Amino acid sequence: CCPLESRSLQFSRLLQQEERAPAAPAPPPARHLFSDPAEVEALRRNLLAWYDRCKRDLPWRTLAATEPDADRRGYAVWVSEIMLQQTQVATVIDYYIRWMQKWPTLQALAQASLEEVNELWAGLGYYSRGKRLQEAARKVVSELAGRMPRTAEDLQKLLPGVGRYTAGAIASISYGQATGVVDGNVIRVLCRLRCVGADSSSPAVIDWLWDMANVLVDRSRPGDFNQALMELGATVCVPKSPLCGECPVKQHCQAWRRVEKDLAFASQKLFGKAAPVPDVEDCGLGDCPLCPPATEPWDSSLGVTNFPRKAAKKPPRAMRTATCVLERRGCHQAPEYFIVQRPSSGLLAGLWEFPSVPLAQDLQEEKEREELADHLQAWTGRPVAAKGLQFIGEVIHIFSHIHQTYVVYSLHLDGDVTLDPALSPSRWVTEDEFRASAVSTAMKKVWGADPHLSVSGSVSVQKVLYMWSINQGTQGKGEIPPFLGHGPTLLDSALSILLPCWVGSGLIWSHPLVPAHLGHARDGISMVLAPGLDWRRWGAEGGGLQHCTTAAGPCRAAQLSTVPGYCPPRSRALPGGQ
Ligand code: SF4
Repeated sequence: CCPLESRSLQFSRLLQQEERAPAAPAPPPARHLFSDPAEVEALRRNLLAWYDRCKRDLPWRTLAATEPDADRRGYAVWVSEIMLQQTQVATVIDYYIRWMQKWPTLQALAQASLEEVNELWAGLGYYSRGKRLQEAARKVVSELAGRMPRTAEDLQKLLPGVGRYTAGAIASISYGQATGVVDGNVIRVLCRLRCVGADSSSPAVIDWLWDMANVLVDRSRPGDFNQALMELGATVCVPKSPLCGECPVKQHCQAWRRVEKDLAFASQKLFGKAAPVPDVEDCGLGDCPLCPPATEPWDSSLGVTNFPRKAAKKPPRAMRTATCVLERRGCHQAPEYFIVQRPSSGLLAGLWEFPSVPLAQDLQEEKEREELADHLQAWTGRPVAAKGLQFIGEVIHIFSHIHQTYVVYSLHLDGDVTLDPALSPSRWVTEDEFRASAVSTAMKKVWGADPHLSVSGSVSVQKVLYMWSINQGTQGKGEIPPFLGHGPTLLDSALSILLPCWVGSGLIWSHPLVPAHLGHARDGISMVLAPGLDWRRWGAEGGGLQHCTTAAGPCRAAQLSTVPGYCPPRSRALPGGQ
């Protein structure tokens, strides 16, 4: 096979031929090319017709189609494209609406504070995106007189944080520039359309895909075409179970053709007809840099999901951080919590969190407590006893490249605390203020891990175990076994360790997973742990199930008794005398 560079040249020539069409004769079909202008036309037509019929109604699409002011239109598309990077459409919609209501123009955004931007962005992840968007808006206002650059080249050159993809999307959608775009969805669709099985994250393949996107983009409706290609990847040509039967471009799809050939071959074999093995392993050009490597040929069981292929990702780095929910009584004895601001660069830059300290891996618990106590002492300016820290549990949060474990403690402070202005910004907040602050999703999880803080909302297994441990008076005595994992894994692990001692201690754990014979255990506290369980109230005096709801509605005694293995408590009545 010819080297990739020369194929790129070939591609460019085809592009030129297409621009000069119809004079140039169609080049011979090649597996990785769209070399037939008639096919390109048909693909554009089919894709756009499907998009017109099936596109999702999204707020940024409405703005892009209806906003007459070119700068506002470009800004509206820009915000959506930045928010959509690495984030699902369903998540973005609400953030987008609130953002555009608050800052409908570049000028409004340029006047906002970074704190306001972070507060609105909180929970959307990849926080530097909001910060960079605001910096770039300020630049457009101060250096470009508020006028958005109109071409992909200028957008990329002049706006910080705007890369090739975002520039192409803004220019094509807002300003009608006939330029292609390549994002994750487009990579998947194009790799399948043209059986590109080489590492799709390699620069050579990415360049090839950009060339292909530029050839394909519809000259009269470039913005719609680009959105259609991305929409196809998001709703039909999805990563795991693509809906090829409903695909508007399946007749142009080489991967689909390959599957059809496999099926035809299998059925011929079934009926005993001798048939040659399909010659579709590569494009027929020998050692092709775009075909799957010879060591990983087409796998029939994967079908079209043979494409795209990526080099194995590096596993995320494991990090451990001790964090403390520091609480005091504020005005009118209302609880307040201490939060500090993270540095202005790096992970979660500028966001607020409970005071936290990174830990070395495999540190003894005693050492972890001491490190956290020292850290808290620096914040509060008074001695903090490591033993006084109450262990809450562990919260795991996966960042794109970090597997972060927060070891959560809590501590109640009496009296006033003087905050040191020489340290990073810090403040005391009420629960409502905490929720409205620029805190990360990870910190919201930490908040949810503390049963004192979050008596409503979905309960975590750790929280229930912690409740149990408080009630049993084992907290702080080192009797809580280490539980690993989340969800069902954690539950299994917890049950396998705890059930024997609960039987012995007279505690009943009522759950479909609990074997029926445990129903004979002495009653104590009964809990039902079910998916979506929502503990509304946990009794402050000695614990006890007072009221709970499941995803299916309020959980009453009659329903509890239908849970296999459930044994109604004898000495402790449920609310309402049930
Ligand atoms: Fe994707 Fe299947 Fe359509 Fe090909 S036919 S583009 S694999 S959905």
